[in-house]
Amino acid sequence: MELYNGIIKQTEELLAGSSGITWPYAAGGAWPDAGKNELIMQRESALELGGSGHSAVTYSCVTTDSALLTRDEVVLYGPDIGKLKADSHYARIVFITVQDIGQADDAFDAIRRLDFVRYHIFPRGFMMRALPDDCREQVRIGRDAVGKGISFRSVGFSFIKKYRENPAVKNVRLIFVTDPKAPYGALLNHGKRVTEITKSLSTILKGMPTDCAACNLKPICDEVEGMKALHFSQRKK
Ligand code: SF4
Repeated sequence: MELYNGIIKQTEELLAGSSGITWPYAAGGAWPDAGKNELIMQRESALELGGSGHSAVTYSCVTTDSALLTRDEVVLYGPDIGKLKADSHYARIVFITVQDIGQADDAFDAIRRLDFVRYHIFPRGFMMRALPDDCREQVRIGRDAVGKGISFRSVGFSFIKKYRENPAVKNVRLIFVTDPKAPYGALLNHGKRVTEITKSLSTILKGMPTDCAACNLKPICDEVEGMKALHFSQRKK
């Protein structure tokens, strides 16, 4: 499954201009989970990430290319939660390497399952709100959590812990971005591209003729490694 490899590489190139800090995963460092969605009222809020006109980006990419990621880790570009003095721009990007998840339907199901993991993580005092456009996310962080030392390291570890419950997952990289100078517009475009690739995969799986000359998915197929091969392998079944 190489469909998202191009986005992974391009994201890394985009962020290479900023200096990041990396923490290797340690399960014991995960932030406590509230077990369900928490409502943090504005009066209890210390910070908003991606709110009030700030950039808010999220996307995740799944790959079977284990060379792209060899350990579980959290990477932060920009100030950590305790250092932010005001609401901030925000991006949360996830790369996941998996064992062979098969082709076509099986791969699509696996990707969707991994995508839904984000709706089952509830770091205490870290209220995530998906925006209608599915590559955007805002976060409200409670004062209490900030007082207790919540950080991107601990929240990132919570994500990794949850992803690791899926036996197909090999490694996870959680990337948080709060650097005011980060290229949020370009990251958002990558997020949209991820959505486009997943939607194209879904369209292919619904069944369509392999007539590339008349196909409206041709631009994305020409660009995304593995998409064309996937459709033709699907067609042979
Ligand atoms: S391989 Fe790509 S361009 Fe060709 S028909 Fe299939 S989806 Fe369309």
